This record gives sequence, C-alpha cells and structure tokens, in this order.
Amino acid sequence: MKALVKDGAEVRLRDVPSPKIVHPLQVRIRVAAAGLCRTDLYVAEGTLASRNQLVLGHEFAGTVAQLGDQVGNLQLNQRVAVFPWLGCGQCRWCQQGHSTACPQRQMLGVHLDGAFAEEIVVPAGLVYGLSDDTSFQAAAYAEPVAASLAVLKAGLQSQQRGLIYGRNRIAQLTLRLMRLHGFTQVEMLDPERRNEENSFDFVVETLTAPDEVATMLHLLRPGGTLVVKSRHPRPLELDLQTLVPKELKLCAVNYGDFQSSLDLLHDPKFDYGDLLGAGHPLEDWRSLFEEARRDESTKSFFRISDVWDR
Ligand SMILES: [Zn+2]
Ligand SMILES: [Zn+2]
Repeated sequence: MKALVKDGAEVRLRDVPSPKIVHPLQVRIRVAAAGLCRTDLYVAEGTLASRNQLVLGHEFAGTVAQLGDQVGNLQLNQRVAVFPWLGCGQCRWCQQGHSTACPQRQMLGVHLDGAFAEEIVVPAGLVYGLSDDTSFQAAAYAEPVAASLAVLKAGLQSQQRGLIYGRNRIAQLTLRLMRLHGFTQVEMLDPERRNEENSFDFVVETLTAPDEVATMLHLLRPGGTLVVKSRHPRPLELDLQTLVPKELKLCAVNYGDFQSSLDLLHDPKFDYGDLLGAGHPLEDWRSLFEEARRDESTKSFFRISDVWDR
C-alpha cells in the first residue's frame, strides 16, 4: 500500500506492506480521509520526538476491513473514526478512562504507525462507529473537535468574559464550540487590543509564540484563568512576577469526550463546514505540508479513497 513515511530526517511517500492484525482485539481499517495537523508537521520536521521510522497521521476515518477474532462490537465495512491515543490499559489513569495521562501513552502517527496510508491496524477500543450522515471527511475532523472541546473541562463559567488567543482555525473552532455551549462573552483576539490590562476572566491559548505568554497574563484580570490548549513543542516562559501577584490560575486541558465530538459533527447548530479545506491525494503531500505551514485558516485533508467526502 501507499504510505507517507517519516524515515529519520526525511519524509517520503512509499510502497510498504499492508499492516496485519497481530492481536485478537485489533481492527484493520481502510482509510478514506485523513486530516493534516500541526502535530504531523512537528513530527515530520523533527521538532516533536517520534519513532524514527513510521507512517504519519492521526486524524482519520474509514471503513472496517478486517476484525480480530475477539472484536465483538464492530462490523465489517462499518464506517468508523478512531481516537488516536493508546494507554497501557492497566495503570490507575487508564482504569479511570484518562489514557492520555498514562505514563506509557502512545499516539498514532507519533509513536505508532499512523493513518496517512491506505490501511491501518488499531486496537478496537479506540474505534467509534459513525452515523450515516457524517462524512468520512467530517469524521476525520473529530480529533481536533475533541481537542477544542477540552476547554469545557477548565471550570469556566458561561457568563464570564473570555478571549481566544490566536487567529487560526483552532481558535475559530474553539470560539464556535464555546458559543454553542452558552459562552456568550467570548471573543477572538483583536491584535489592536493587546494593551487592555486586566480585561478578561479567562484567556484560551491556541497557538503561542513564546513571547505571547506575557501578553496573555497581562490581559487576564487578577484571579483569572489561563487555559493552555496547544502542544507547543518547545518550553514556554512564564513571568512569575505577573502570575503570582495577580493570583492567576493555569489550567491545561487536552481532550473532551470523543463520542461527544462525533455527535456534534452532525448537529445542525454546529457550523464548521468552512473550516474544512479540500482533499488532496497523498502524492501532493509536499505542497499540502507547505500550505498547512503557511495558512492555518482551514484544515487540510488527504483523500485516500474516492469516497473520502461521503
Ligand atoms: Zn491532530
Ligand atoms: Zn496506562
């Protein structure tokens, strides 16, 4: 099969053997659509540590091509999406359903072979069935939606005044999801208003250049909350001379519920079509990677099968 492989410092489209089921609780999936994410770019360029040789990609949807012997809850040819993080399944955090905090957590496309390929094998526990009215492309968007939904875990009040810091599709997505959940006083960052000291009850960070943290702390009112959302690959600096006197709260959130994000994708009140870009064949990966680095206004997709948008 064709697969976009990171091989040391290089990325190449290669013919590789199709993955095989090696455990009775695994599922082989024929990938239809896959989204390109900042994480993929970080892995490709080596700013995020990853396995040395692997298939990239972690946002995807497709159909079940083969079931392991002990998989009971899925069917052949079923349309599915996949949550891309695996825990060990044994530790206290995994047992509490918090597998992304597992000390042995692994992510598809970072630590394990990912989805920029015609097929992928994953544990059945990560696989979610799709409703018929969710296209593969929309379902491949479930992971970013789940990541944005995480802001609802930050303990914010819907009447509070909030700022989404960043001007990109993730900021847009987060703004829309918060408004959908009753937050009426949330706005996007207006670069002209960076000087409005002590203005906001909370600031949600969606992409941070290291020097912007100071601006966020400045904009927060005393006692306000900085919600940290992005996974910037490098450490950021926090000015404790601001943080401590203002008694600010820091709250890092990772994912909301994956099933809830799939449900939202066919909720008519959730308007997101304009955040999805066109689909490109794997062969166009170079130009797609370049475009994704330059312009973050829409999500870029690989159309891996002809039915990718159905
Ligand atoms: Zn992603
Ligand atoms: Zn674990």
